[in-house]
Amino acid sequence: MSKTEDEKWKNICKSKEERPKIQEYRNWRELPPIPISLPIDASIGTTGDWRTFRPIIKEGCNQCGICWMYCPEGVIKKGDDGSFEIDLIFCKGCGICAKECPTNNIEMVRESEIEE
Ligand code: SF4
Ligand code: SF4
Repeated sequence: MSKTEDEKWKNICKSKEERPKIQEYRNWRELPPIPISLPIDASIGTTGDWRTFRPIIKEGCNQCGICWMYCPEGVIKKGDDGSFEIDLIFCKGCGICAKECPTNNIEMVRESEIEE
């Protein structure tokens, strides 16, 4: 972990009283690393099994990372080339990513209308 990242960690680990009330970030790249739970198979299957709408990232994506930041399931992954990919095994199709995409480049498509 670089020194800068290490400092960010310390900042978010401070007690509630010590932490600043408001922290500003210019973009998602400045966000400190935050532990999240990644999805795993459960006894009743994967969340992707019961999805009605599938999010599809369109070509106009500018790789801003907003969808990655908002996805409540942690299923949007960043590739080495900076592109974002949705893990459809666990995506539940809530549509939050599409709603938050500032360039309107995520389309929610009904699963029954998708030809594999
Ligand atoms: S539809 Fe919901 S769960 Fe699926 S990638 Fe978008 S925000 Fe995440
Ligand atoms: S929020 Fe939209 S433009 Fe930004 S990375 Fe996601 S799909 Fe691309």
